Amino acid sequence: MQNSISTAAGIGPKRATALHERNIDTFADALLHLPYRYIDLRLRHNVANLRPEMDAVIEGRLEGLNLRPRRYGNFNSASSARLVDSTNRRIKVVWFNLPSYTQFPVGEQVLLCGKVTVGNDGALQLTHPEVHRLAGDAVPPIRPIYSLPKEVPQRSFFSAVSEGLAKLRSGSSEASIGAMPVELSREGGVLSVADALRYLHTPPLDASIEQLESANTPAHQALALDEMFAFQLALCRDRARTRQRAGAVMAGPARLTESFMGSLPFVPTGAQLRAIDEIGSDLAAPAQMNRLLIGDVGSGKTLIAFWAALRAAESGYQTAIMAPTELLAEQHYRSFARLCGRLGLMSALLTGRVTGNERARNLRAIERGDFSVVFGTQALIQEGVRMRNLGLAVIDEQHRFGVFDRARLIALGSEANVMLMTATPIPRSLAQTLFRNLEVSALDEMPPGRTPIATQIFRDGTMAEVDAMVRTEIAKGNRAYYVLPLIDGENDDERASVLSMAKRLGVSLKGCRVGVLHGRMRAADKDRAMREFRDGALDVLVSTTVVEVGIDVPEATVMVIVAAERYGLAQLHQLRGRVGRGAAPSRCCLIVSNGAGGVALERLAVLARNASGADVAQADLRLRGPGDLFGARQTGALPLRFAHFIRDWRMIETAGELAEQWLDRDPKLESDASAGAREALARILDSGFSLGDIG
Ligand code: ADP
Ligand code: MG
Repeated sequence: MQNSISTAAGIGPKRATALHERNIDTFADALLHLPYRYIDLRLRHNVANLRPEMDAVIEGRLEGLNLRPRRYGNFNSASSARLVDSTNRRIKVVWFNLPSYTQFPVGEQVLLCGKVTVGNDGALQLTHPEVHRLAGDAVPPIRPIYSLPKEVPQRSFFSAVSEGLAKLRSGSSEASIGAMPVELSREGGVLSVADALRYLHTPPLDASIEQLESANTPAHQALALDEMFAFQLALCRDRARTRQRAGAVMAGPARLTESFMGSLPFVPTGAQLRAIDEIGSDLAAPAQMNRLLIGDVGSGKTLIAFWAALRAAESGYQTAIMAPTELLAEQHYRSFARLCGRLGLMSALLTGRVTGNERARNLRAIERGDFSVVFGTQALIQEGVRMRNLGLAVIDEQHRFGVFDRARLIALGSEANVMLMTATPIPRSLAQTLFRNLEVSALDEMPPGRTPIATQIFRDGTMAEVDAMVRTEIAKGNRAYYVLPLIDGENDDERASVLSMAKRLGVSLKGCRVGVLHGRMRAADKDRAMREFRDGALDVLVSTTVVEVGIDVPEATVMVIVAAERYGLAQLHQLRGRVGRGAAPSRCCLIVSNGAGGVALERLAVLARNASGADVAQADLRLRGPGDLFGARQTGALPLRFAHFIRDWRMIETAGELAEQWLDRDPKLESDASAGAREALARILDSGFSLGDIG
C-alpha cells in the first residue's frame, strides 16, 4: 500500500507530481482520498428535462462527431457531437482537450454523465461528460467523483484507486491499511478499514447517495473510529511515557504561597482550593506534571496559575506563562504584579512589543535566572528563549494553541511541569477521554457575587432598539462590543460585516467613539484598537471574534452579537464572557438573521436560559450532540481527517477503550497484527502532531 502511486497504470510522472502536491503519494493515500460527490448512474435523464448546472445521466446514441486535434491552451479546439436520447431529442456534447486517439462509440448505445451548461449559442449542452458504452463496459451503479488537480482525470484516478482496492483484497501483510488490528475490529463488530474503503469508492447498489455525500455511513464511521483509535493509542503511549518522565520537584517551604493566599482580596472558591491541592501534589511528586485545568470564563483560573508559579519560585524554579495574545499576556503580567508584587519576585513580559535593547536585556536576564516568572505569547516558544531552570510551563487559553504545542514549551526545560488552562466548556469526564494523556482538574464553581449577564434574542431589524440601549449604557460611562462574522461582506452578507456595521454605527451612535478590530489589521493596529477600548478612548469596539480571548474590560457592559446563529454555543458563551466582568449589570444581545430557522432559535434560547458554561454545554449536548460545542479551530490542530473531534465523542470513548485493550495485549506494538497501528503512529508523529518524545 505504500508503493508509489506513479506505478499505477494511467499515472505518469506529470500526474504523479500533481497528486504529490495534494499529498497523494502512495496507493494508501489515494484510497484515503475519499470521493466528495457521487453521481447516481442508476438514474436516467431526458434531454427535455435538463436544467443548467445539473449533473445529467443520459442514455442515448452519439452522432455527428467532430473531433478536433488536441491543442494545448486553445480552448476553441473543443471536440463535439450530438447525443440523441430515447425520446429522439438531441443535445450538443462538448469535450475539451480530448486525446486525439480517443475511440468514440459513435452510433452505439452509450451512457453520458456530466454537467449541463449553457453554450455560446445560448442552448443547453453537456460539457465534458464521461462516456460509458452500455454494451461493453460494466457501468458501476454509483460513480465517485474526486476532488483532483486538473492534470489528473477522474478516470485515471479511479483506476489507480481500483488497483489499490485490488491490492487490499490480496490480503498480504503489506496490504494492511488502517490502524486497528483486524482481530480487534472483528471482535468489536465494526467494519474493517479495507471494507469501508471498498464501500466508499465502489458503493453497492443499495447505497444512499445522500448518506454518502453527507459522510454518514457505517463506512465513514469505521474510518473515523480507526483514526480515533490511532489518536488514542498515541495519547495512551504519551501518558505512559510522561508518567515516567522526571519533573522538577517543588517541595520548598511554602513561604510565598502562604502569604499569597493570606493576602488575597477575596476568598478562594472550594473548586479553586481543590485544584490548588491537586496541582500542589503533582508539583511535589518526582514525575512530570501534565495537567489540564478546565474552568468556565471567569471561574478564576489565573489565580491557580499564579499560585503554581509561586510554588515554583519558592522551590527555586522559574515559570513561563504563555497566552495567545499580547494583550492577554500583558494583562496577566500586570495582575501578577498587582497580586504578587509585594512578595518581592521579579517578573518579565516578553512579547513582540518588547524590542531592541530592552528585549536583549530581558533575554539575558531570563537566561541568568533573574526573573522568576516570564509572561509572553507564542514568542516564548518560537524564538530561542533560554531559561536557566524552568520548572513550570503554563499555557493559558490552551484551545487557542495547537493541542500539542506544549511539547515545544517543554523544550525550554526538560523537567518542566506543564499546566494547560482552557475555558472550553466540556464536562470533566469528556475532557478525561479527549485528553487521555493529561490529568484533569475542573473549576466547577464560580466565585460568588457575580451579576448574571442578561441574555436576550433580537430579530434582525430591531437594531435600533439595541443601539438605543447601547447609547444609554455609554452615557453611563460604560462600553459595548459589536461582534460580526465577516470583515467586509458583499450583497446579502454586508449587514453581517464589521466595516459596514462600523459605518452604520457612525451614524446611529453619533458622538460615540467607534473603533474596529479584525484579523486583517496589522498586529500593531489590532493591539492599539484593543488598548484604546480598554483604556476608554473608544466607547464601542466593532470586531470579529478575535475579541473572544480572555481579555478583561470591566467597563464593558454590552455584548452585541450579529448573526448569532452562525456560531457554536461554546463560542457564543466565550464571547458573552467578555462582559459582566465589573460590578455593573451586563447584557448580551443575540441578533438573529431573518432567514434563521426554529432550530437556530432553540439553540440560542439555551444560551439565554443558562448562565454557566457547563449548563450551556450540557443542554447543547442534549439538544444536538457535541458537534456544535467547539469551533472548527479547536479541531484544526489535530491531524484528523475523518473523525470529528467532538461530534464523534462517544466513538472517542470506544476508541480509547479499544486502544487500552490493545496495549494490554501488545504493549510495545511489536506483533504483526500491530503493523497498521505502528504505521499510523508514525504518520501521526510525521504530521507534526508532536507528543514530546513519543516514538
Ligand atoms: P478565567 O478563569 O476566565 O481566566 P480569571 O482568572 O480572569 O478567570 O478571573 C476572573 C476574575 O475573577 C478576576 O478579576 C479575578 O481576580 C476574580 N476572581 C478569581 N477568583 C475569585 C474568587 N474566589 N472570588 C472572587 N473573585 C475572584
Ligand atoms: Mg483567563
